[in-house]
Amino acid sequence: MLILGIESSCDETGVALVRADIPSHAANKPAIPKLLAHALHSQIDMHQLYGGVVPELASRDHIRRVIPLAEQALQQAQCQLKDIDVIGYTQGPGLAGALLVGAGVACALGAALNKPVLGVHHLEGHLLSPFLSEDPPEFPFVALLVSGGHTQLMRVDAVGRYTILGETIDDAAGEAFDKSAKLMGLPYPGGPILARLARDGDPQSFALPRPLLRGDNLDFSFAGLKTAVLTQVQKLDADLETRKNDLAASTQAAIVEVLVKKSMLALKHTGLNRLVVAGGVGANQHLRDQLNAQCARRGVRVHYPELYLCTDNGAMIALAAAMRLQAGLQEPNRDWSFDVKPRWPLDAITSPANQSTL
Ligand code: ATP
Ligand code: MG
Ligand code: FE
Repeated sequence: MLILGIESSCDETGVALVRADIPSHAANKPAIPKLLAHALHSQIDMHQLYGGVVPELASRDHIRRVIPLAEQALQQAQCQLKDIDVIGYTQGPGLAGALLVGAGVACALGAALNKPVLGVHHLEGHLLSPFLSEDPPEFPFVALLVSGGHTQLMRVDAVGRYTILGETIDDAAGEAFDKSAKLMGLPYPGGPILARLARDGDPQSFALPRPLLRGDNLDFSFAGLKTAVLTQVQKLDADLETRKNDLAASTQAAIVEVLVKKSMLALKHTGLNRLVVAGGVGANQHLRDQLNAQCARRGVRVHYPELYLCTDNGAMIALAAAMRLQAGLQEPNRDWSFDVKPRWPLDAITSPANQSTL
C-alpha cells in the first residue's frame, strides 16, 4: 500500500511517501513501513525577519509549496498520483490556518483521485518517527517527546496506546531553548544556534535553576529558567558578547539535566528498559550524549529519530498514517470533509480501554 503524507502544522511544509504492508490477519506482525521519498521546505528564513512564526505568512507559504513538494516526492519515489492508496495529513495540533492548507490539499486530492484520507495527530508522527531509523525500537517503551510546543513523558505500549506520565506545566523544552536564545540576541529558531555556541562554553559558569527536579514528579517547568537567563543577560550587559558561549552552555546544561533526570525517573517508575526520544530537541547532541551515558549505566536501550526527521516533516505523518492502518486503529474515509484540531491532546487518540496502568 502506498501512503502519501502531508505535514503543514507550523513552519515546515513536508510531503512524503511510504510503502506499508497491511496484514490480512491481526496476529501477523507487519513490517515497519518503508520511506520511499520525502520532500521538505522550511520557512525559517521567512519568519526569521520577525523573530518567530507569523501564522498568516505560514499558511500562504504552505499553499505555494505543497503541490511542488508532492510532485518532487512522487518523482523521487518514481510513482504517479494514481499509485497512491491513502493520503494522510496532519489534522492537529498546530496553527489553524496552516493545518487547513494541508488538510484541504489532502482532501481535494483524495476526492479527485477517489482515494481515502486519514487525519493524523502531529505528535503521534513525532513519537513514531524513530521507527524510520536504522535502529528502530520495539514496544513497550518510555517516550520523551521534546518539541517546540510540547514536552511530555509517555508510556507507549503499542501504536495508539499512550499513557502520559508527565508534561510541562508551562514552556516546552524547545521553547526554553528558543526563548533563552532570543534573550541572548540569537535569531529564530534559537535552539540549534544556542546548542552550537554551547560547544565552546563552560556549562558551570552560570548557576541556573532546575525546577521540579526534587521528588518523584514527572512534570516539567521551564518558565523560571527563561527569567533566570534574562537576569543574567541584564547583569552581563556589555559583557554578553564575550560570555555568550558560557551562558549558552549553562542554559543547555540546565534544560538537558532536567530532561535526562526525569526520563530516568520515568524508566524507574514504569520498570521499562527502553527509551525513545522524539521531537526537534531530540536533535540536540548534548541531550543525546547525556542520555546515552545514563542509559548505558542502567542497561537501557535508547532510540532516536534520524537527525533529519527530528523536526517537522512529511515522513513521520505518512508513517503514522501507515502504522495506524496496520494496527487497524483507524479507517480512512471517503467523504473528504475535514476539520482541523489546532488544540488536540495526545490522550484524545488513546482509547481508555487501551490505556495501560503503571
Ligand atoms: P510541536 O511539534 O510541539 O507542535 P514544533 O513542530 O514547532 O512543535 P519541532 O519541529 O519538533 O517542534 O521542533 C522544533 C524545536 O526544536 C525548536 O524549538 C528548535 O529550537 C528545537 N531544536 C531543533 N534542533 C535543536 C537542537 N540541536 N538543540 C536544541 N533545540 C533544537
Ligand atoms: Mg518548525
Ligand atoms: Fe512538531
